[in-house]
Amino acid sequence: MIQEVAKAIQDKLYFFKHKPYRVVTKDGDIKWILDSTVIVRDENHKITNFVGYLTNISALKNSELKLQKLSRTDQLTKVCNRMHIDDVLQNQYYRFYRANETTSIILLDIDFFKNVNDDYGHLVGDSVLIEFAKILLSSIRKGDVLGRWGGEEFLIILPHTNLNQAIKLAKKLQKIIFENNFSTINHKTASFGVSTFERGMSVETLIDSADKALYLSKENGRNCVNTMQTLSK
Ligand code: GH3
Ligand code: MG
Ligand code: MG
Repeated sequence: MIQEVAKAIQDKLYFFKHKPYRVVTKDGDIKWILDSTVIVRDENHKITNFVGYLTNISALKNSELKLQKLSRTDQLTKVCNRMHIDDVLQNQYYRFYRANETTSIILLDIDFFKNVNDDYGHLVGDSVLIEFAKILLSSIRKGDVLGRWGGEEFLIILPHTNLNQAIKLAKKLQKIIFENNFSTINHKTASFGVSTFERGMSVETLIDSADKALYLSKENGRNCVNTMQTLSK
């Protein structure tokens, strides 16, 4: 806000609009405000005061935020959908090339999930997917991003995490899932593929690497973690 005021003064404006901002009221409520400000000057062009017209746009802003959230959410599991995961990955790609920020990903696929549908029906299958998402979400950090990549595949984006750390987390998740007692189906396992950004890689090759590693995990008998890249000592 202060920067916007300074810029308006510098540009010798008489009228400007702030970007919508939030205020916390005395009751602790959050209100979104649209603030249009007139800069009043005297005959010597010296600023005498500011007159702000504040409009409460909370209803509008909240419905916009709700829509935004909806557009990023997988409707069944309530984790991020693929479109949002793609956006975050693209963002992390820029961060890697611009600021050298490491990012790793974990791709996981539930083992023999088709059997769940065949044995117990599609609705139970759906509830297992919801349970999986909950387990994964409660086992990762706040800055990590969990999304549903496809039917029974999930992808986790791990900012500031190298390959060794990502593998460690994947193994932890593998164990948590292995030991979890799911409702109705009791036991289920998942296979994992892990990859990390390296120079020359694109978002596509990052995913491709994790996908190949996941395939290897399936080939090696499932319920395990693999990577195609070289671990550091
Ligand atoms: P693998 O260990 O090789 O991964 O075996 P799999 O049975 O898990 O793999 P496959 O790809 O053959 O089957 C995936 C199944 O996931 C098939 C599909 O019906 C089911 N599936 C995908 N999306 C959903 C969903 O939203 N709900 C339910 N209930 N099932 C789904
Ligand atoms: Mg699959
Ligand atoms: Mg599967």
